Amino acid sequence: MPIDATQPYDDQNIFAKILRGEIPSKRVYEDQWAIAFHDIAPVAPIHILVIPTGRYVSWDDFSAKASAEEITGFVRAVGKVARDLGLVAPGYRLLANVGQHSGQEVPHLHVHLFGGQPLGPMLV
Ligand code: C5P
Repeated sequence: MPIDATQPYDDQNIFAKILRGEIPSKRVYEDQWAIAFHDIAPVAPIHILVIPTGRYVSWDDFSAKASAEEITGFVRAVGKVARDLGLVAPGYRLLANVGQHSGQEVPHLHVHLFGGQPLGPMLV
């Protein structure tokens, strides 16, 4: 079921639990602002999720409410993950779903990072 991006933050959502280490994940990066881990159901040879350490349901409240420091830290982390994985030269794709029409399932902001093969045109 897609989530409503206007809902309040739920501390029991699955990525909150991954962030707290209550549920295992294959982490590839962590710093003060973000963690990154392998998507459990990858749709590309490399499919990583990068999430902020702060409590944000989606890109909507993150972009509206996060501090400049948080936004900078998160954006830099996304770029660093891609560089660390050697994805800059071959190229990669970023995607963030927001709410119902996008099909967002998990109510904690996550940026999908896809790579490892030519990705073809965007579907929409
Ligand atoms: O953007 P959206 O909310 O649809 O994506 C959620 C993603 O989280 C899916 O790609 C799903 O495979 C992934 N996921 C995960 N680990 C979980 C639950 C979901 O990697 N425990």
